[in-house]
Amino acid sequence: MKTIFGPVPSRRLGRSLGIDVIPPKTCTYDCIYCESGRTTNLTLEQQCGISIRQVLEELENFFDLHPDGADALTFSSAGEPTLYRDLGPLVLAIKEKFPSLPLVVLTNGSLLWKPEVRRGLLAADRIVPSLDAASEDVFRRVNRPHPDLDLSLIIEGIERLREEYPGSLHLEILLVANVNDHPEELEKISHLVKRIGPDKIELNTVVRPPAREKTRGLNAHQMARVAGFFPRGRTDVIGTFEGCREGGGDENLERRVLGLLMRRPCTLPEMAASLGAHRPDLHRVLSRLCRDAFLKRYVFNEREYYCLSERT
Ligand code: SF4
Repeated sequence: MKTIFGPVPSRRLGRSLGIDVIPPKTCTYDCIYCESGRTTNLTLEQQCGISIRQVLEELENFFDLHPDGADALTFSSAGEPTLYRDLGPLVLAIKEKFPSLPLVVLTNGSLLWKPEVRRGLLAADRIVPSLDAASEDVFRRVNRPHPDLDLSLIIEGIERLREEYPGSLHLEILLVANVNDHPEELEKISHLVKRIGPDKIELNTVVRPPAREKTRGLNAHQMARVAGFFPRGRTDVIGTFEGCREGGGDENLERRVLGLLMRRPCTLPEMAASLGAHRPDLHRVLSRLCRDAFLKRYVFNEREYYCLSERT
């Protein structure tokens, strides 16, 4: 099994070289939205099929051929990376060999209640656990976990990690239409987010064919509405929305406008410069978003700004 893949373009990390140490499709969850298909080995048993030496050799070979070939390294797989028993020593070995490259671990967070799993991640530069639900029933519907997993234990594990880990902790929340996007659940998730205190919240949705065929993602408007439940300035929408596929130019521009305004209020000229958009197109899109109450205008220092409406 080859353990590295990519690099894949990442908006925040640049070119991110993937590291996958888990055989497909071995996971503690069987998420309805999983892009890698149904989980065939639903397990909590940690394993060690790949040697640390093999991963280091593959990384060395890659960088021998492409000395400037990646901006970051990311543990990400068609399975759960914390099921790899030697993840801690591997993280340390990679940091020793490639100290200047940021090392990121994407995890579903389901094993963070184990102290040894948390300890193994401490040398990473960024950890991104997932938390798609705050209620046990929604958790079971969206993540279809191993029967021995318990949501309250998983939440406790993420909270413990936050206390122990001094690095950058991002929490990813993946939204599935009509499953975890209703206001009651979002309020509960938002409450948990406040308790955990991640550095960033990454909102994602279903953008590629999911494990369960009928699973649907949220469009740009719906994602903007969801973003209103989470702290502005620390929340990013990272998904590319399903709705954009059918919407043509204006819908794509809407998504980019909402993505920009999620970070800070802007004037129309600032948006035109930042997005490279024609002003008449931008004006049309902004008027529609204001009419539909997704945005509001206000004047500050004699300039007209646009910002997201409260809880759009
Ligand atoms: S946790 Fe990740 S790999 Fe596992 S089923 Fe869910 S999306 Fe797929």
